[in-house]
Amino acid sequence: MNIKEEIQSYLHELIELRRDFHSHPELGFREFRTSERISRFLEGIGLEVKTGFAGTGVTGLLRGKTGERTLLLRSDMDALPVTEDTGLPFSSENHGVMHACGHDGHMAMLLMTAKILSEHKDEIKGNIKFAFQPNEEDAGAEKMILDGAMQDPEVDAAMGLHLWSPLPTGSVGINAGPLMAASHYFYLTIRGKGGHAGIPHKAVDPISTASKIIESVQHLQTRELDCLEEPTVIMFCNIHGGTSPIIVPEQVELQGSIRFLHDRGDMVEKRFEEIISHVCHMTGTEYELKIVIGNRLLSNDPEMTDLVMDEARRILGPENICTNMRMMVGEDFAEFARKVKSAFYFLGTGNARKGTTYSHHHPKFNIDEDSLPLGVEFHIATALSYLRNF
Ligand SMILES: [Zn+2]
Ligand SMILES: [Zn+2]
Repeated sequence: MNIKEEIQSYLHELIELRRDFHSHPELGFREFRTSERISRFLEGIGLEVKTGFAGTGVTGLLRGKTGERTLLLRSDMDALPVTEDTGLPFSSENHGVMHACGHDGHMAMLLMTAKILSEHKDEIKGNIKFAFQPNEEDAGAEKMILDGAMQDPEVDAAMGLHLWSPLPTGSVGINAGPLMAASHYFYLTIRGKGGHAGIPHKAVDPISTASKIIESVQHLQTRELDCLEEPTVIMFCNIHGGTSPIIVPEQVELQGSIRFLHDRGDMVEKRFEEIISHVCHMTGTEYELKIVIGNRLLSNDPEMTDLVMDEARRILGPENICTNMRMMVGEDFAEFARKVKSAFYFLGTGNARKGTTYSHHHPKFNIDEDSLPLGVEFHIATALSYLRNF
């Protein structure tokens, strides 16, 4: 098969699909129209379609002629609560909701990949499961997997890609091992004793305690962890306490996130709580701490990474591969990657001339549509390579 030529013959449909998703964005777990559109498309090309994973999730199974292995290719489906300001003729028709992360492009690329590969069913050794996942922005993958998206048939490996505006169009980013951070959210309440600001020795001040905690926990990232090998970020993003300049409040509430690119997260959280406990002991306050898992660590399998790298060298040339993409942003593809050998990679879509270098989630965010056919090519090439070689 001549992949490039086949993709070119579907270029118009690919771009139309992306623009249709772009004008009709839907928030996480509410991707009803999107889900309908995807399942109709997959049925139309003759795949075995299943719906209802985490509500709106869809899978389409392509059974090859021979072979036992099943590869899962994943696209997310959700948009964001952002008011679009791109001025594009196909801007969001759903006010206050926008595809500001590129997931519209992800769906279009994966659907066209399914269409092209379905026309070559008889040459494919193994199965490909096309998975469309709801609510990536708030970790919908776990629910989709609990609903059986990786079963029947059992999935052996998974791959996914993200369009990425910080990388120029025509480049790709990937590395083996930790790629995207685990992000855990904490909710901390410090309780003291309220009183008069002019008689503070009769009160127990939760505000000065909170400030000591905010400072003290930063010790961890450099004095207890190797900042190069065990990158960790502790951010306080919300703090609330008090009502007036003359009253010591009863309590202070703090929220934030702990992010890490290594597998010693348990130790970080244990020490985080120990430091809080010690500071509270010192100031005579009490605390309550709740930590919730947002995203788990996304780590790429070395063999699957090599496979993507080989195709990237062939398609784009070695000079267009960025080999350190580690970042403190979370990505729930991690849930697939925990179960099977996986690779996740970034496809450049930044082009200053076309105004596509805004950061993800920005109201002016847009993708360079020239990256869409490349994404289809990557999906097809990496899937066929996996099924041929593993
Ligand atoms: Zn996003
Ligand atoms: Zn995204």
